[in-house]
Amino acid sequence: MKGTTVDTLTTYKEHLKEMNIISSALALLSWDQETHMPPHGITARSQVSGRFAKHLFKLAIAPELGETIEALAADSSLTIEEQASIRDIGKQYRRQKAIPSEMIEEHAIIRSQAQAAWAEAREQSDFAVFQPLLTKMVDYSRRFADYYGYEDHPYDALLEEYEPGMTVEKLQAVIEPLREQLVPFLRRLATEGTPPDTTPIEGSYAVDQQRELARVALQLIGYDFDAGTLDDVAHPFTTAIAFDDVRVTNRYLENQVTSGLFGALHEGGHALYNQGMPENLYDLRLDGGSSNGIHESQSRMIENLLGRGLPFWTYFQPVLAEIFPQFRDISPEAVYRAVNVVTPSFIRVEADEVTYNLHIMLRAELEAGLIAGEIQVADLPERWNEAMDRYLGVTPPNDALGVLHDVHWSVGYFGYFPSYMLGNLYVSQMVTKIRQDLPNLDERIAAGDVLVLIEWLKKHVHQLGAVYQPDELMTRITGQTLDSSHFIRYVEAKYSDIYGLT
Ligand code: ZN
Repeated sequence: MKGTTVDTLTTYKEHLKEMNIISSALALLSWDQETHMPPHGITARSQVSGRFAKHLFKLAIAPELGETIEALAADSSLTIEEQASIRDIGKQYRRQKAIPSEMIEEHAIIRSQAQAAWAEAREQSDFAVFQPLLTKMVDYSRRFADYYGYEDHPYDALLEEYEPGMTVEKLQAVIEPLREQLVPFLRRLATEGTPPDTTPIEGSYAVDQQRELARVALQLIGYDFDAGTLDDVAHPFTTAIAFDDVRVTNRYLENQVTSGLFGALHEGGHALYNQGMPENLYDLRLDGGSSNGIHESQSRMIENLLGRGLPFWTYFQPVLAEIFPQFRDISPEAVYRAVNVVTPSFIRVEADEVTYNLHIMLRAELEAGLIAGEIQVADLPERWNEAMDRYLGVTPPNDALGVLHDVHWSVGYFGYFPSYMLGNLYVSQMVTKIRQDLPNLDERIAAGDVLVLIEWLKKHVHQLGAVYQPDELMTRITGQTLDSSHFIRYVEAKYSDIYGLT
C-alpha cells in the first residue's frame, strides 16, 4: 500500500470515528427518549438531538470526506471491509449531496406537519385530514428520486436506500409467484382447513413474569446481557449504541403471552446480528447490516423459523410452564398449533406468516404507483380497500383500520415496506441451506441447543455486517439470488399440516 493511501485512509477513518461518536450519542438519546425520559424532557431533548443530527449531517457531506472517498474509491490495495465502507459511505455522501439543502429543511418541516396530520386523521378515521400533506410527502419523494437518479423506475431510487440493488423489476419477479400461490392458498385454508385451537394460549399473564420469560428466551438464543439491556417501550425496537452495547426493548400485553415472547425473540434476532459483528465493522460504519431486508431476515429467523416451530416448543413448553404453571398440562404441540393460527386482519404488525407478505405487496404496489404518478393520493383509500379484499378477503370498515394504519408514509419512508417482505423471503432461502449444513437441526433445537443455529448465522451472516450487499450475500450463502419459491414451499408445507389440508 502506497504512503499516500495510508495517509488518506487514516484521514478517512478519523472522519468516520467522529461520525460514530455523534451517531452513538444520537442513538443513546433516542433510546433514552423511548425508555426512561420523563415526558417533560421532550423539549430540551429535541433541541439536543436536533443539534447532534445537524452536526452528523454536516460530517456526512463534508467536502474533505468527499475527497478521501474519491481518492480511495478505485484503490484495490484496501481490504474488502474498507472497500465496502467506501462504497456505502460514498453512496450516502452522493445521495445526501444531491438534495439541495433548502429542500431538506422544507421536507423536515412538512414531515413534522404530516406526522401530526396523520395522527389526527387516524384519530378521526378521516383520510381527508391527511391527504394534502401526504400529497406533499409523495411529491418530495418523487423529487428526491429524481435527484438520486435511476435507470428504469423512480421507485428504484427510493428502494436503494433500504435495500441496495433492489428494483421494481426484481421486486415484481418475487412478488408475482408469491401472489399467485399465496392468495389461493389462503382461500383454501379458510374454506377447507381446520383452524388450530387457540384456547391453550388464552388467559391473563402478569407482566412481571412475562418480562422474566422474555429474559429467559433472550438468554436461550445467546443474547449477551453484558453487552445489552432489555427495557419496556410502547413500540419495540433494537438499537446498536456502539460495539458491545446493543439494546433490546419490548412490550407486554396482559392478555397475550405470545405478543411479549415473540416480540423479544424478534428484537433478539436483530440484536444477535449486531452483537455478532466485529468491532472493525463498527469503526468502518458497516454495522447497519447488509440491508433492512437482511436485518429483518435475522429477526424473522428467530421469531418465526425458530420461535413458531415445533422443535422450539418441544424444548420451551416446560420452560413456559415453569413461569406460568397454567401451561403445565398443555402439550408442546398444542402450543405450537395455537401460535400458528392464520387470521386475515387489517393490521400488518399483527399478521401471521401466511398473510404478512400480502400486506406488504399491497403497500409496495401502491407506493410504486404513487411515486411513478400512476396512482393519485386521493384514490388511495379506495385502492387500499380494493386490494385488501383481493389479497386478504377482508375490507377495512374505515380509514383508521385501512389506509391510515401504518405510520411509514407520514414520515416519508417510501421504499421501506418491501424490506419486511424480503426479510421473510431471505430467511426461507437461508433455511434451505441451513438444513443441508445441519441435518439434525430440529433434534438439536428440541433438545434446547438453539446456539447451533445462532453459530451458523453468525458465521454466514452476522459477522459480515454490511460487507456484502444482499444479492451477493445471498449468492455466497445459498448459491443463488433471491427466489421466493423457498418461502412458498415452507408456508404451504407448514400450514397444510397445521390446517389438515391434503
Ligand atoms: Zn424487525
